[in-house]
Amino acid sequence: MTDTTQGGDGAILDFDLTGKVALVTGGSRGIGKSIALTLAARGADVAINCNTGGQLAEAVCEEIRQLGRKAEFYPHNVGDESEVEKMRDEILRDFGRIDILVNNAGITRDKSFKKMTREMWDAVINVDLTGVFLVTKQFVDPMAERGWGRVINIASVIGEIGNFGQTNYAAAKGGLIAFSKALAREYAKKGVTVNTVAPGFIRTEMTDAVPAEALKVVTDSTPLGRLGLPAEVAAGVAFLASNAASYVTGHVLDINGGYAM
Ligand code: NAP
Repeated sequence: MTDTTQGGDGAILDFDLTGKVALVTGGSRGIGKSIALTLAARGADVAINCNTGGQLAEAVCEEIRQLGRKAEFYPHNVGDESEVEKMRDEILRDFGRIDILVNNAGITRDKSFKKMTREMWDAVINVDLTGVFLVTKQFVDPMAERGWGRVINIASVIGEIGNFGQTNYAAAKGGLIAFSKALAREYAKKGVTVNTVAPGFIRTEMTDAVPAEALKVVTDSTPLGRLGLPAEVAAGVAFLASNAASYVTGHVLDINGGYAM
């Protein structure tokens, strides 16, 4: 019998997600859409959450069904506890369980600290940090009871190095990195890994809102010389979701073209 702990065994190089059920929050567009499609392409059935973009989410579901996988969408605000509980009930009704949770939903409300209002602070903390707490609460203990699970949180390079005009977002994403490490320690012995992916600047509607001059400053200081693509983030998530990442927990995977290292 091969000892899989010694390396060289094919079982460790297992990137297949067939038979797994994933939930991707904010999966209707941008990075979340790419994650949902990539996990489905690896074999997972996928529950997609969004806030108000149901039409886009349904289109992603349709693409996933074309791949032969099951997909449904759930338009519920991750920052609202009763909405999250409704989403849990609907997902359990349709899929029975979640094995892979990707907390991807996120918003920005940028302003210099001087101009930042309490509303802007609360909005970002509520979706980007409390939303992760609320959704994870619903699904992580059942994963632990079954002895296998993956929680993958999408933070940001801004949570590691900060950024002008983003004290709220930096606090939420930095908090998310710390949250993930603490949760990783709590669930490590129960078969559940918890990791963070920290993207740099990725071409989505979120960065479409950033002025071109500001993006030029970013690409000029990115060793790989360009913005990232959603699929490049999704590739990291697919690895962390798989059995190939069985010895990875509490990690922050930077996908930022070398912008911060
Ligand atoms: P995006 O294109 O703006 O998409 C955001 C997604 O989140 C949408 O599906 C949106 O659904 C959903 N969402 C927003 N608020 C929600 C809420 N309250 N409840 C449920 N869903 C909600 O964003 P993105 O650029 O793909 O970013 C995805 C994640 O990566 C975010 O956490 C972001 O902070 C992080 N990130 C992005 C970049 C980047 O450069 N793009 C870099 C680092 C990290 P609706 O359309 O229904 O609102």
